[in-house]
Formats: sequence, structure tokens, C-alpha cells
Amino acid sequence: MHRGFIVSPRSKQAIRATAHRLLDAFPLGGRKVPVLQLLEVWMPSIEEDFSFEILDSAEMFQRFGQDAEGITCHKENMIALRTDVYERAAKGVGRDRFTAAHELGHYFLHANEAQTMMRQSSFDTKAYCDSEWQANQFARELLADIRHVGRFPTMDAIAAHYGVSYEVARIQFQEAKKMTLGRAI
Ligand SMILES: [Zn+2]
Repeated sequence: MHRGFIVSPRSKQAIRATAHRLLDAFPLGGRKVPVLQLLEVWMPSIEEDFSFEILDSAEMFQRFGQDAEGITCHKENMIALRTDVYERAAKGVGRDRFTAAHELGHYFLHANEAQTMMRQSSFDTKAYCDSEWQANQFARELLADIRHVGRFPTMDAIAAHYGVSYEVARIQFQEAKKMTLGRAI
């Protein structure tokens, strides 16, 4: 697993709640999340001074010192996606839609961590203190709303409906099942 920076611990439930708050600000009702529209149109409508940029590899490197697929810059209140990632996300490729949602995770979860994020996490770091683990959790919860995935009969149906990878569909499918079982006991 790719390791990020040490951040304040956040539980799966807390991250899920943050993703739900964002989802509930828009009239989605379990429909597929138009993640690029979210970045380009909806985010600027709810977050003052927010900007979204599309950068090619060279620009990414020049501004942020790395050729990242996506980047969240709290100081500039912006999210950027690399051109190829943006184009594939626009075509509906699950992995690239996930990258866009992952950056939104950094945006909403790690705004006040700019200082502490200087400490690189290691394999000893607990997953729930790792910035990448947290942003991935957020991305899953945002793209495949656990409150709705239970009505789909198969993982394939979830992947197709929500435009997510099979892996994301599998995790959310199992999580939804766990929640249903939890309620039954
Ligand atoms: Zn990240």
C-alpha cells in the first residue's frame, strides 16, 4: 500500500460521515456521483475561493515538485488533476474517478493538517493515522454510498451503477452486508 503522511486518527465511521455530509449537500439520492461536475461546478458553489485545475505532467512537476495524478493544495484552496487522469475520469474510468474522489478526501479531511503532514508515515503507522488510507476510505464512501449499495444484487451491478472498480464495489458490498447483519442481531 502506498504510504502517505501521519495525520490525526480518523475512524472509518467518521470518514463515512464526512463523505455523507458532502453527498447530502446535493440532490443525488443514490445516483452515480458526477465527480468531475462535483469538482468543477458544485465545489465552487459551496466552498468560497475553491478552484479546480487541470495540469499536464510538466506543470504538475513545476508547481508541486512531483508528477502526481492529483494534488490537493490547502494553501491555495485548490485541487488539481493531471490531464490524462481528468480525461479518463470524464470517460468514466473507475480508477480515475477514484483519484478525483481521493483528492476530495484530502481536501475535507486534512485541511488543518498542513503542518503535521510533514511527517511521512511508515509501515509502523496505524492505517487510520495514514493520510492515504483515510483519503481512500473517503473516496470509496463518496463514490459508492453505503446507504444505497445494499439494494444492488451483485458487486458487478454496483461497479456498473456507480462507475467504480470491482475492488471498490466488493468492499462496499461487504460493508453494506455487515451493516445489515449488524442490524439483524
Ligand atoms: Zn493522496
